Amino acid sequence: MTDDEGQVIDPFLLSCARAAKGFMPDDEGAALYRAGLRAARGGLGPLLEVGTYCGKSAIYLGAAARSGGSVLFTVDHHRGSEENQAGWEHHDPTLVDSRTGRMDTLPTFRRTMEEARLEDVVVAVVGDSPAIAAHWATPLSLLFIDGGHGEEPAWADYHGWTPHLAVGGLLAIHDVFEDPAQGGRPPWELFTRARSSGGFEEEPGCGSLRVLRRVGPGQ
Ligand code: SAH
Ligand code: MG
Repeated sequence: MTDDEGQVIDPFLLSCARAAKGFMPDDEGAALYRAGLRAARGGLGPLLEVGTYCGKSAIYLGAAARSGGSVLFTVDHHRGSEENQAGWEHHDPTLVDSRTGRMDTLPTFRRTMEEARLEDVVVAVVGDSPAIAAHWATPLSLLFIDGGHGEEPAWADYHGWTPHLAVGGLLAIHDVFEDPAQGGRPPWELFTRARSSGGFEEEPGCGSLRVLRRVGPGQ
């Protein structure tokens, strides 16, 4: 296998990712795939995503896991973040369980993975992210933080999950905007905290997707 092999996502998976519901622009998805591939090939452990939603980013990372011989764990309670609830900007009424009136993205996610034929490399972990992080024990080659974007959930993900990232592993954070006019503060604050901690070095990202490599114990 040459270094270039696998650098571009499989066209079938790309078309599935583009068609999936969610919040991942094509160019950022391609950068996420490349980061996932670097991590998967490094062999330090599985990839883990916080914030599955309907599986759009999980296709990019699942594709990388498959090419690099790894697996992706994707964590979500599937009840939506604050910003996904009725009356908020990112609400999709087709994702509401009519029996209870609550959000439920799990059925859509399962269909997305089935159609993309990624069920063998993408493992859904369904529950509250900090509760799962508190009991997690496997070192990760890549941690992708894209869960709740409020102050409290974002920091809970950072503090709960970054200790599980192997030295040499990649921390990817989504929706990182330096300019407050472009988006909420917490992802930017997590990113700058990691970057100035001494434990991480920045790697190529794309747009609001920022990527850091763990080089030491700082977090
Ligand atoms: N990565 C997705 C988007 C994720 S949206 C994509 O590519 O489209 C953020 C997700 O985080 C939502 O699905 C929400 O249910 C989940 N989430 C928010 N807070 C959570 C928590 N405490 N535990 C588990 N999941 C959470
Ligand atoms: Mg996002």
